[in-house]
Amino acid sequence: MRENARIRAIRFLTERRVMVLHVDTEGVLAHVRGDSGELREVRWDPRRGWSCSCPAIGLCAHGHAVASVVLVSDGSEVTNQPTPSTEGVRGA
Ligand SMILES: [Zn+2]
Repeated sequence: MRENARIRAIRFLTERRVMVLHVDTEGVLAHVRGDSGELREVRWDPRRGWSCSCPAIGLCAHGHAVASVVLVSDGSEVTNQPTPSTEGVRGA
């Protein structure tokens, strides 16, 4: 099976190559160690979205890895799901 950006991202996470340095509502900064040992800088900004210092076009595996562990929305993939109310049983 071809290893796409999402699968690589999961591998980066399981191999502990992702270091999140900073997260707040104004931005995200993280470092990801790529396959050839290079350190990539992944950023998120509420206006520009995700960016990475690697030459890949679009959201690369580094970006996917960071995006999967920080709760910021790129406007397309993150949805709010209501928490199911499973606590207690209310009387009729
Ligand atoms: Zn990258």
